[in-house]
Amino acid sequence: MVLLDGKKTSEDLKIEIAKAVTKLKSEGKKTPHLAAILVGSDGASMTYVNGKVKACERVGFNSTLVELPKDTTEEILLENIERLNNDDDIDGFIVQLPLPKHIDEQKVLMVINPDKDVDGFHPTNVGRMTLDLPCYLPATPFGILELLERYKVETSGKDVVVIGRSHIVGRPMSILMSQKRAAGNATVTVAHSRSKNLKEVTLKADIIVAALGIPEFLTGDMVKDGVTIIDVGITRVPDETRKRGYRLAGDVHFESVSPKSAFITPVPGGVGPMTIAMLMKNTLLACQRKS
Ligand code: NAD
Repeated sequence: MVLLDGKKTSEDLKIEIAKAVTKLKSEGKKTPHLAAILVGSDGASMTYVNGKVKACERVGFNSTLVELPKDTTEEILLENIERLNNDDDIDGFIVQLPLPKHIDEQKVLMVINPDKDVDGFHPTNVGRMTLDLPCYLPATPFGILELLERYKVETSGKDVVVIGRSHIVGRPMSILMSQKRAAGNATVTVAHSRSKNLKEVTLKADIIVAALGIPEFLTGDMVKDGVTIIDVGITRVPDETRKRGYRLAGDVHFESVSPKSAFITPVPGGVGPMTIAMLMKNTLLACQRKS
């Protein structure tokens, strides 16, 4: 069993990005600048955003964090987005999801200038991704492709099962892996909450991407020997033995699945750190496209 080490791979990526930034600076070009809007102070979102800001510092980017209170109106949020759209120094920005219930997430994502949409959630970028045109790939699927590529996991002609059809992970993952590309050319099945006999489907899979958000859902009896496992899930499970009162659980029951796996991502230290690194990569691309 080979561990797909997202922590190490993301560190390698950040070193590569930092080198590219040093080069841009030495050529007198602009320093990449990423902004993030955070509405409210939900614990997990704050952790994610802080991780993104820290990563910016690590690679030599400028970063701006726009913190808005949780009762911010949709109108104020849209005004902030418009301001970032029009700020020439900002190469890319993200609006940390989820947003409070009184704000229409789709409406918000639609207002982001697609050229600055480094999360790759705007319909223009989703459409361009689907058509195999240059675009910002959503960071989590992009990170998974990068991991598969760097560990030389064969995907061509393989049976892939993606569990979950969300707009940010499952759906784009299924599209990307079916495309003619590195870490693509696979035969892809998308499973979701209405899928029947899931075990029959997963037992045939060469590669499983679990992105459903149910801790330890995929168990050893559901996979065949030699399978490759990508565990996207991150759920905070209450755990009194931990100082912070919870532990992070993936969607895969690691103890029973890993002995049968050829490759597997751990949680934490797998897909999570890759997501942040790919956001940095998209921001670098956004800056390079301008210069
Ligand atoms: P989501 O809630 O938007 O979507 C979950 C999907 O799982 C849905 O499409 C649903 O149909 C499917 N599903 C639910 N129950 C199912 C079942 N019993 N059988 C089969 N399919 C089922 O979730 P999401 O935003 O895609 O996130 C999924 C998980 O990945 C969460 O734990 C989230 O925290 C994590 N996540 C991690 C990263 C990362 O960087 N590692 C990034 C995004 C999301």
